[in-house]
Amino acid sequence: MSDESGSAGRRIAGWFNRRSSQITAVSPADNEASPQNAIAVIDAIISGLPDPVIVLDREGRVVAFNAGAAALAPALRRGDPASIAFRVPELVEAVREANAGGGVRRIEFTERVPTERYFEAFVSRIMLVGLPAVLITLHDMTSIRRVEEMRADFVANASHELRTPLAALTGFIETIQGPARDDAAARDRFLGIMRDQAWRMARLIDDLLSLSRIELRAHMRPDTPVDLVPIVRQVVDGLQTLAQDRGVTVDVVAPVDPLMVPGDRDELLSLFENLIENGLKYGANGRRVDIALTQFVATDGKPEASVAVRDYGPGIAAEHLPRLTERFYRADVADSRAQGGTGLGLALVKHILNRHRGRLFIESQIGKGATFTARLPIVENTLEKTTA
Ligand code: ADP
Repeated sequence: MSDESGSAGRRIAGWFNRRSSQITAVSPADNEASPQNAIAVIDAIISGLPDPVIVLDREGRVVAFNAGAAALAPALRRGDPASIAFRVPELVEAVREANAGGGVRRIEFTERVPTERYFEAFVSRIMLVGLPAVLITLHDMTSIRRVEEMRADFVANASHELRTPLAALTGFIETIQGPARDDAAARDRFLGIMRDQAWRMARLIDDLLSLSRIELRAHMRPDTPVDLVPIVRQVVDGLQTLAQDRGVTVDVVAPVDPLMVPGDRDELLSLFENLIENGLKYGANGRRVDIALTQFVATDGKPEASVAVRDYGPGIAAEHLPRLTERFYRADVADSRAQGGTGLGLALVKHILNRHRGRLFIESQIGKGATFTARLPIVENTLEKTTA
């Protein structure tokens, strides 16, 4: 260490002999560029920054830090080596390099306790009242990293879902062009399968587009009052053919009066179509689907509409329940594929309910069927009228 840097180190070490109350007491007359003035100024500047910021002396001891840094590393203390609060070898190395060479170092590291979080840190050498110091700025990258992971998973899942029917289509086209060229019966059968596969791809693309449309408008709450009763009845009418094919009777119990909610009609049609169609497809062996529309006052005192779709099919094991609304999640993959499912129906339901400030409740037990209940806030002034 040179003489000059040795004395600088001693001067900075002297900063910590002062209590912070003395350090911040800078009078306007005291314009001299002293270490305590410098600390007061840097405290004032970094306290206004949203990201965690830490200033170290060239020995790696903490000179100043803001609230963001204190929240991230509660063990930070002025005068202590930063390595006590941050046990991150990459950060220690970046501080050493910044001290040695100047310039800005960028590193990434992961904190695993109390929860896993990802950080990006910029470490640079600065001069504070003529003394070398190190400035560390941190960015919490956890949510960005999660979004990136979700997007990568989503693209992988969507590609996989599209590739499966596409591979089937290609295979059948080659068979029809080759071995089955002169076999009219086989050709007809294969064309039927190809139509189903093409239909599955179209449905997947429709669901993906619906999801992204709803996501784009997620923050815009619908405000047109719509009556849920005719919407549910319209969906049930539209699914009569499927119900007959599966041998299922659908029973709707609804109030005589309208059940008005602020809503988007098309999205609500899609919501109930998904729930009722699932009941018909997965719960077919129960032979019955019951739909009950009710209104009540929730525990928070707000009036709500409830639409419960109950089937008497095989039910869903408890471990699947929390994940059913994730994109492409299926309790039974083979069954979903056999039913022409995309794995996106309940994700759509959840997004539609979120946009309507509603909630989805799923109750099920193996062997005892499943009940999917959508709850939506009611248009307030209709409650007195409809309950009167
Ligand atoms: P899919 O397009 O596969 O039907 P959904 O998101 O609508 O996708 O449903 C996700 C999964 O939840 C389904 O694959 C199925 O395994 C399960 N599921 C949904 N509804 C029911 C139900 N009424 N009974 C049993 N399982 C169900």
